Amino acid sequence: MRSNPADYELIAPGKLQAVVSLLANEPGKWLPIAGGTDVMVQYAAGKLLAQKLVSIWNLPELRAIEVLPEEIRIGAGCTYTQLREHHPIAEEFPLLASAARWTGGIANQNRGTLGGNIVNASPAADSLPALLAYEAELILVSVRGERRVPYLGFHTGYKKMQLAPDELIRSICLRRGFSEYLHYARKVGARNAQAISKVCIAALGRIRGGVIGGAIEDIRIALGSVAPVPLRLTELERIIRGKSVDRELVHLARKAAGAAIQPIDDIRSTARYRSAVAGNLVAEFLEKLRDSGKPA
Ligand SMILES: Cc1cc2nc3c(=O)[nH]c(=O)nc-3n(C[C@H](O)[C@H](O)[C@H](O)COP(=O)(O)OP(=O)(O)OC[C@H]3O[C@@H](n4cnc5c(N)ncnc54)[C@H](O)[C@@H]3O)c2cc1C
Repeated sequence: MRSNPADYELIAPGKLQAVVSLLANEPGKWLPIAGGTDVMVQYAAGKLLAQKLVSIWNLPELRAIEVLPEEIRIGAGCTYTQLREHHPIAEEFPLLASAARWTGGIANQNRGTLGGNIVNASPAADSLPALLAYEAELILVSVRGERRVPYLGFHTGYKKMQLAPDELIRSICLRRGFSEYLHYARKVGARNAQAISKVCIAALGRIRGGVIGGAIEDIRIALGSVAPVPLRLTELERIIRGKSVDRELVHLARKAAGAAIQPIDDIRSTARYRSAVAGNLVAEFLEKLRDSGKPA
């Protein structure tokens, strides 16, 4: 059934403190709306449960990108356009910049925000594997103050997360220092643009000494669209860390990836296809990592 605009209330206090006070005073009553690219889809489909909306679009604290010596701190209200046009992000965190480029079309990138992508919590969300691979941390804010939590573990199940009803995501923090790493991202969908992924990967790694045949010193692999939440393949990483990439290791990694994921059949793909593609992407990443070294 179509939504009736008269049933809804939308306010824009324009100040972060006023928004969190509102959320604290009537817990669960007010739904924050940032770019609205997910909320308005629910509204148009007559599926928006909340009737009171509070705009957090353009709150200055949520729109800034701070480049600090140790980390880059991205306001949760930053759009994909902001992310892909930001030079330090494009240079140091290309997995996130690629995800921003792949998300929807230009209009969507001008409105959709990183914070909205996290809280919408789609298992197919493009930016979330990148946040897992870079071990992002979130700063959450409420009238009680701020708390900082690792993004890994923030999503606890399908559309479930460790965010209290009176909290907002204020910032996403990415620790710097990945210049020596190989960054690898791919989105497999029905077409190259404007598609929801069937499987996507964000991975990075570094070979000891940077030489071909060297052991894997550090490795982070995250997949989207293969489980109820975006998945970091920590067990696979544990198995292959410290080893050199050869055919046997690639075979082992494929098997470990298959064991870690829980893909499903849906309108976009099948569990079997997703499983095969996830294994292929992990294998391709490892082969690129092996070839990224210089001759000894
Ligand atoms: C045509 C179209 C194409 C799309 N393509 C893609 C795609 O390719 N890949 C992809 O990943 N997504 C895609 N999306 C989904 C969407 O654009 C993203 O999830 C976007 O990042 C949502 O951000 P938003 O600011 O618009 O969120 P909103 O719609 O404003 O909010 C979404 C949810 O997040 C909450 N929220 C927002 N910001 C905060 C915050 N700071 N703190 C706490 N809660 C918050 C809201 O309360 C709401 O529950 C697409 C959407 C459309 C309409």
